[in-house]
Amino acid sequence: MRIILFGAPGAGKGTQAKRLEEALGIPQLSTGDMLRAHVRNGTDLGREVDAIMKAGHLVSDDIVIRMISDRITAPDCAKGFLLDGFPRTVPQGEALDRMLAARGLAIDAVVGLDVPDEVVRDRIVQRRSCPKCGAVYHLSKLPPKVPDTCDRCGTKGLEQRTDDTLEKVNARLEKFHKDTAPLVQLYGPRGLVKSVDGMSPPDEVFESTLRVIGIGLSGVGKAPAKVAAGRKPASRASAARKPAARKPAARTPAARKPAARKAAPKKKAAAKAKPRPAKAKKKSARRR
Ligand code: AMP
Repeated sequence: MRIILFGAPGAGKGTQAKRLEEALGIPQLSTGDMLRAHVRNGTDLGREVDAIMKAGHLVSDDIVIRMISDRITAPDCAKGFLLDGFPRTVPQGEALDRMLAARGLAIDAVVGLDVPDEVVRDRIVQRRSCPKCGAVYHLSKLPPKVPDTCDRCGTKGLEQRTDDTLEKVNARLEKFHKDTAPLVQLYGPRGLVKSVDGMSPPDEVFESTLRVIGIGLSGVGKAPAKVAAGRKPASRASAARKPAARKPAARTPAARKPAARKAAPKKKAAAKAKPRPAKAKKKSARRR
């Protein structure tokens, strides 16, 4: 499947892409992550886009179109991909159509995550991430257990993205409404746009997303096998339902590797599954 995750910055595209990537076994292609890697590695492209990104502006269509055009021909994209942060303008959408059509392919669904601007502002301004493993936190809703320390790898000094300040978020939101939202006109008439309430808890957004793309939890045979340390999944079906809720989302390429494929869970097995120990339940409730 070739899916576009569509929504304002902070709508939850990255979080859902991570879950879908594991559940569907297709890679997340995030132009923001690709560009940040260039900046981090000090490449020519990274130097070119650094200031633009810091200002919350869009980098040129040519740059991102080239990046995606190269990326979608990689072997891991043969069965499909999840686009996160691309296309962001109508010309990018049209270029994507052309590059797919040249291979006899097309987009299967555009999942729109609806979140009001004021919620986006709060989510982004309070977002912090681990500079080492990329785990993502929200200062009040998903804080690390020890202040300023990563739950996942213990690194001290969580960072705020340079474009995650209120001023930059306002600029990014303005760009979204002006340049990105019109993409709905491109995909809407084809019946591809499926709206999902991005205000629901991440587990529900995940279930809704699977439903609107016509899969549903029962179709997620390759459910994410990852669970928080010390906790056994009650069943693969429940692991699919709550894939990364207890772990902050990883943004590292290594963590992006799809989970090993497993056979589809049988309903009977799910019904027989043992309840989780009380201690583990308490722990999981904290991360919700
Ligand atoms: P994101 O991580 O998707 O929020 O992207 C971070 C920044 O990268 C954006 O604010 C833009 O400066 C740049 N960027 C990412 N994707 C695109 C794109 N498709 N077109 C133009 N600029 C992009």
